[in-house]
Amino acid sequence: MSVFKIKNLEKKFGNNEVLKDINMEIKEGEVVVIIGPSGSGKSTFLRCLNLLETPTSGELYYEETLIDKKTDARKLRQEVGMVFQRFNLFPMFTVLKNVMYAPVEIKHVSQKEAKEAAIELLEKVGLSDFSQAYPATLSGGQQQRVAIARALAMQPNMLLFDEPTSALDPELVNDVLSVMKDLAKAGMTMAVVTHEMGFARDVADRVIFMDKGYIIEEGKPADIFSHPQNERTKVFLQRVLSS
Ligand code: ADP
Ligand code: MG
Repeated sequence: MSVFKIKNLEKKFGNNEVLKDINMEIKEGEVVVIIGPSGSGKSTFLRCLNLLETPTSGELYYEETLIDKKTDARKLRQEVGMVFQRFNLFPMFTVLKNVMYAPVEIKHVSQKEAKEAAIELLEKVGLSDFSQAYPATLSGGQQQRVAIARALAMQPNMLLFDEPTSALDPELVNDVLSVMKDLAKAGMTMAVVTHEMGFARDVADRVIFMDKGYIIEEGKPADIFSHPQNERTKVFLQRVLSS
């Protein structure tokens, strides 16, 4: 079953055409990694999927149903969670409370049930010992893992990751990637914007290269990395792989 089907998606900000004729499908359990230069529309694309941005034209189907004016964007965002580059945890809440907050406030899950689930999720992301800590006392990598636990607490159907490790010190990146890898292995449907080519190579079912609002090329990681077809893909990969 397809989680998203995207047909002729276009997005403009004023006269700036940021996404141009995007067509693709994301299947259940698939991990799609999106790469491309800064400004190519990657974030805007993810944000269109959970209606943080409204597409200018085209059709988006979520689980085979057309997204239109009647679609409940809040409900869609509960099912399609997002993890950002900046984690934006609630600074005045403990780690545990951060993870419990949305299920209790938005889904009206009982405190007891939310707490049990949060404890389990913190274990999953390797932060059992930090449940009573406050975000400011954690490293960036730990905060990002809390943010992932917080997204998972809503029991999403799919997760969007927008450069989840770009704000982290290099030595903290792998802990976050390894949590994402575990999620992928467990069958979570994921769309991940990242510059971590090792992750793309190891974890992606499909890699999509975007440039200037277009999908230029897509394929299995082995094909994209070893035999890029398009000149722009080649140039981009040479640049990121040599840095
Ligand atoms: P990427 O994530 O690949 O770096 P973005 O999707 O963030 O690219 O941005 C693509 C283009 O859209 C850029 O030119 C950016 O300035 C523009 N853009 C993004 N968000 C907005 C916005 N809210 N308002 C106006 N322009 C925007
Ligand atoms: Mg971006």
